[in-house]
Amino acid sequence: MDKTVINKIIELLDDSGHIVITTHHNPDGDAIGSSLALYHYLRKLDHNVSVIVPNDFPDFLKWMNGAGNLVIAERSPEYRQLLKNADLVFCLDYNALNRAGVLTKPLEESKAPKILIDHHPHPELEQFDYAISIIETSSTAELVYDLMISMSGTTALDKDSAEAIYVGIMTDTGSFSFACDYADTYSKVAELVRAGINPGQIHRLVYDTYSESRLRLLGYCLSEKLTILTAFDTAYIALSKEELARFNYQIGDTEGVVNYALSIKGIKVAVLLTERSKKIRLSFRSKGNFAVNDIAREHFAGGGHKNAAGGDSFVSMDETIEKLKSILLKYKDAIQRSTI
Ligand code: MN
Repeated sequence: MDKTVINKIIELLDDSGHIVITTHHNPDGDAIGSSLALYHYLRKLDHNVSVIVPNDFPDFLKWMNGAGNLVIAERSPEYRQLLKNADLVFCLDYNALNRAGVLTKPLEESKAPKILIDHHPHPELEQFDYAISIIETSSTAELVYDLMISMSGTTALDKDSAEAIYVGIMTDTGSFSFACDYADTYSKVAELVRAGINPGQIHRLVYDTYSESRLRLLGYCLSEKLTILTAFDTAYIALSKEELARFNYQIGDTEGVVNYALSIKGIKVAVLLTERSKKIRLSFRSKGNFAVNDIAREHFAGGGHKNAAGGDSFVSMDETIEKLKSILLKYKDAIQRSTI
């Protein structure tokens, strides 16, 4: 980790009365985990710190200590004042201000120095004053771990921050099934266990929390909605607004569904399409060296990681599926050549 950036962060922290931590729209386990870890750490150093997330986050992350203190911008207008008063802003787990939903504009207008900590490819570095932007890592939570350790050694960790970091690493690697080829990640996890976390319990708290309707929605997706495109080694599931409503959709309920489509032998690309109020959300997964973030970025105004990416479409579901098929046709050889 770049020593000059760390020294600059230490200097900025010394001069800052109020610090704000922000995440991307639809915050996931890594966004919430990395933010809460930094929040607990900075509070331990007696800083005045708030975490602002653009919109609500899934219930399976709400057991984490400090989760109740997060300011959800879409429902708490006081976030504007908090951002206005901020002397320093951290931007966690996103690579461009336009990923921050309702926070985008206030962040653009904010005069406070902005520090990016992130692992997404293609960061818009000119939008930030300082950056820890490392793509070869498991998660943003792991980068927050590195920052904390470089600033304070292992005494930086307490159980709350260690749990939050573990949630970020575990969820962003799909429980150590991708982006998990870095030996250092495992040494860091060992430190988290020494700091008192219980990985088995955290796994249960995050993954074994389905509501009955969420599990039935999953069953419906797998038995009724799964479509295999054999020619492209691709599987997709498309869900309309009406179908989501029928299963009493709550935020987070479709999380992980796309991974079931990818779990089929021979399938290398999986896509979940969900109809939202004004758009179709696409969630992409791939096995091995075929990069889905290129498709998300070039064709669906999105982005992400090589094996896990997302994007949006502003035409109908049928048109989106046709567009997807025509794009897959162009990538057909690359998909077939790719190794898992
Ligand atoms: Mn992440």
